[in-house]
Amino acid sequence: MQVNCQGLVLKHVKTGGDSLLKIFTKELGKITVAVSLKEVSSTKKAKLPVKPFTVSNYNLYRGRSGYRYNSGDVVRSFFSIGEDFERFAYGSLALELVDAVLEEDQEEGRIYALLVEFLKWMENPKVDGATLVIAFEIKLLKLLGLRPITHVCTHCGKVPESSLFSVDDGGALCKDCYKNAKIKEGQFSSPPLIYSCKFDIMSTIDYFDKRPFKDFEKVKLRPAVSMNMMEIIENYLKIHLQIGELKSNKLLGDI
Ligand SMILES: [Zn+2]
Repeated sequence: MQVNCQGLVLKHVKTGGDSLLKIFTKELGKITVAVSLKEVSSTKKAKLPVKPFTVSNYNLYRGRSGYRYNSGDVVRSFFSIGEDFERFAYGSLALELVDAVLEEDQEEGRIYALLVEFLKWMENPKVDGATLVIAFEIKLLKLLGLRPITHVCTHCGKVPESSLFSVDDGGALCKDCYKNAKIKEGQFSSPPLIYSCKFDIMSTIDYFDKRPFKDFEKVKLRPAVSMNMMEIIENYLKIHLQIGELKSNKLLGDI
């Protein structure tokens, strides 16, 4: 059966003869598609639909053993992301993260739209890549129903005057609850992933959640703050989504 859909490649896995593409489609969610790269014409244009950072219309064959690639037409290429090492690393992080959080064959139209919009803005040289990827991660967490709790203490529910951010608890932790919990052993992971507010983590999360990507032309986190935010989110993903070390994070460590 022939299937037409629009999507973008999240991951490319080389096997023996065929390659396997993880394609995130608008209509079908994440699917695995077998492709023989030898059969894909050697011209650069024909290869683009099987490369990352390109939205394409795909024609696939769906058989008993899964999807097979027939052809693809480029709708939009975000090629400039690949021309800048830092933007490439941030873009790869977003693709890897989406691949890690999505189940196969589940339509996720809102996450698809978020990813395409993110890649569009990642091409914009006025936008700071680190700030944009943090905004993407927070928006993604919200769509997954895992947005950190920022307005009330996750332990007692009171609105704290000032609070800490507890990765284990999924958000704000007031200073009283922190003191009480600290006494009881085993309440937190070891070492406890609790961050003090050297900068205002809560309002940064709120701001990034609400603002559209276009506002990030004018917003840039200080490098120390964005490094701290990325560390918090990385640990948050590990605890709440059981996501292990992402390759792109290592890549970013080299920048
Ligand atoms: Zn509390």
